[in-house]
Amino acid sequence: MRGITEFVFPKICLSCKSKFNALDNENYICQPCRAKIKRNIPPFCLACGRHLEKQGLNKSICPGCLRKKLHFDRAFSPCLYEGVIRELIHEFKYNGKDYLGKPLSEIMIEFIREYDLPIDYLDLIIPMPLHKTRLREREFNQAEILSRHIASEFKVNLALETLTRYRPTKTQTELPINNRFSNVRDSFSVSKNCNLQDKNVLLVDDVLTTGATSSEAAITLKNTGVNIVFVLTLAN
Ligand SMILES: [Zn+2]
Ligand SMILES: [Zn+2]
Repeated sequence: MRGITEFVFPKICLSCKSKFNALDNENYICQPCRAKIKRNIPPFCLACGRHLEKQGLNKSICPGCLRKKLHFDRAFSPCLYEGVIRELIHEFKYNGKDYLGKPLSEIMIEFIREYDLPIDYLDLIIPMPLHKTRLREREFNQAEILSRHIASEFKVNLALETLTRYRPTKTQTELPINNRFSNVRDSFSVSKNCNLQDKNVLLVDDVLTTGATSSEAAITLKNTGVNIVFVLTLAN
């Protein structure tokens, strides 16, 4: 059987652009770059999921979350939004490389297993929606691709038409932090024929920055009866 596994796939690393031999066709980054991915490590903030520096009196909530109430119950992210992961997310999202969805979602799946996230208590996975004008620009919703892989791995129902974005908002990164919460206010709606009463939902996106977008999506879901909203992003 050894022979079958000896195929190698010559690739160009998407991060450092050097040539490398991949062992399967779904490797897009070389081993040295893979090792450089910065992991988010515990202790995590019980609200936004960022790594907590061990300073100050309050050890469970980060200073940012103490100042600003987020409407989801808790967020989780396996990686820090920098270096290799930042580049890969950029390639995935803006350069049409939808095939990166699988390896990127695998990092999220590993994290769910490693930290034993309560996936069995979830009724639905909902991808963070894109407004239709932005969907046209990008051709796919990166959050939907990540959600599909996670939902099929853990056999959780995927809700694609439930949450929509009906107001095109400016890209959050173009705005100063204080404006990000008002930029997304009232920009989501829930489809009328969905019964979300008492459901536990996992909202999936690629990156959590201020948490403003996820928070607004969460309050919209909760206003229609959703019980718990957890947020899972690849990076924060
Ligand atoms: Zn590389
Ligand atoms: Zn926090």
